[in-house]
Amino acid sequence: MQTLAKTEPQLADLKSRLTEIHDINAAASVLHWDQATYMPPGGAAARGRQIATLHQIAHEKFTSSAIGQLLEDLRPYEESLPYDNSEASLIRVTRRDYDLNVRIPSDFMAKFSNHCAACYNAWAKARPENNFAAVQPYLEKTLQFSREYANFFPGYEHIADPLIARTDYGMKAATVRSLFAELRQQLVPIVEKITSQPPADDACLQQHFPETQQLAFCHQVIEKLGYDFGRGRKDKTPHPFTTFFGIGDVRIAIRVNENDLAEAFFSTIHEMGHALYGQGIHPAFEATLLANGASTGVHESQSRLWENLVGRSRQFWTHFYPQLQTFFPSQLGNVSLETFYRAINKVQRSLIRTDADEVTYNLHVMIRFDLELQLLEGTLAVRDLPEAWNERYRSDLGVVPSSDSEGVMQDVHWYSDTIGGLFQGYTLGNLMSAQFYQAALKAQPEISAKINNGDYTMLHNWLKEHIYQHGCKWTPTELIDRVTGSDVTISPFISYIQQKYGELYSL
Ligand code: ZN
Repeated sequence: MQTLAKTEPQLADLKSRLTEIHDINAAASVLHWDQATYMPPGGAAARGRQIATLHQIAHEKFTSSAIGQLLEDLRPYEESLPYDNSEASLIRVTRRDYDLNVRIPSDFMAKFSNHCAACYNAWAKARPENNFAAVQPYLEKTLQFSREYANFFPGYEHIADPLIARTDYGMKAATVRSLFAELRQQLVPIVEKITSQPPADDACLQQHFPETQQLAFCHQVIEKLGYDFGRGRKDKTPHPFTTFFGIGDVRIAIRVNENDLAEAFFSTIHEMGHALYGQGIHPAFEATLLANGASTGVHESQSRLWENLVGRSRQFWTHFYPQLQTFFPSQLGNVSLETFYRAINKVQRSLIRTDADEVTYNLHVMIRFDLELQLLEGTLAVRDLPEAWNERYRSDLGVVPSSDSEGVMQDVHWYSDTIGGLFQGYTLGNLMSAQFYQAALKAQPEISAKINNGDYTMLHNWLKEHIYQHGCKWTPTELIDRVTGSDVTISPFISYIQQKYGELYSL
């Protein structure tokens, strides 16, 4: 066994290199945050280049042989420590990331990132023009790049596996496929039963709600839920996101629609969920690779937990609705809590994923997941994608897009990154959100009574203790097993849906 004295300089060297890399990446995130919030449009080209330069420097530093050597030297030390030890975890997680990154040649990275920028621009122009033909050649190239990426990891079971591992480490196409098939089987009849009834009336949400009051209400709510404005801020952007510069600076950016009250509120509480995770990471992990979420799916579970299980619950609005009414007396003064609650939980067959309710949402995700597997497998050609998309919407959701703009071109994902690996996290997140929430209520049943009084401290503390503070010390599978005692499973989500919507729609 190596003594600490012998490994101390190497550990210090590794930590200082990782801090430097973290700082470069964080600087790129600040540039990106500025680009998405305040930068004038004329800055786009220079900004894209600046961000790419920083990422390239960070990538080169991270994949250097010096880091590889330090990780090798530190292996006996790591093995002498318990698995849970923070230093052992840091070495382990860094090695995992290092092994993954060194397999991808830097000229591939450069070519792919240039291609993504070009593809994104083509999509941004083609989408409003409803011109899929204009993006088709770019998408064909993206598919080639995605396959090439996967082939840097020979030995996979399914070609999508290495792409899924990028975002949801430990998950495989086969696991996700069977989980989704099970979920689909449960969801389809629920959607049938709900949509055979008259739709909920959500006219109360489609009135004029001035931006200033909307922002003030959102601010008040998320502060109450535990978002620390001393370590974050909230700005406006066309596409809501959360960004992390350090544990002491986790920002959210949201979008306001003055004619739809739901948009700003639910995007704020969603992004706040991501941000609470970031603000809750243990300070000892600052500037290391451990100061990250466990995976895309786990991150999404935290945003969805706050957005849906908390923010769309009757309990939540029993407390907050009277406050909302004071912000909008002329719009909501005469709207009952029950009408409002039904409006924010309206279920309908729709075309746009980001607008979908929590019952149908996962069906949108599964369509994308299945189609990208087919593309990667070579059983579907890019030119046939729009038709395949429309056909799946017809069969799964009973609606057909009238144009590719609101069909296959609606999401930015395939047009700005790989095909494969980017969608499954949304549904995994929804499933895990119900699992985590169930575990919290089981461990501390008092959480429910506190919530009735608008007190979210106990829930927030439970999430910090069991999930947030650990960052990405554990893989998603390890985390969910530690917290809930099981693998990712559909039953807590399905019982949540059955209970809530069973009551709403007398199912
Ligand atoms: Zn999210």
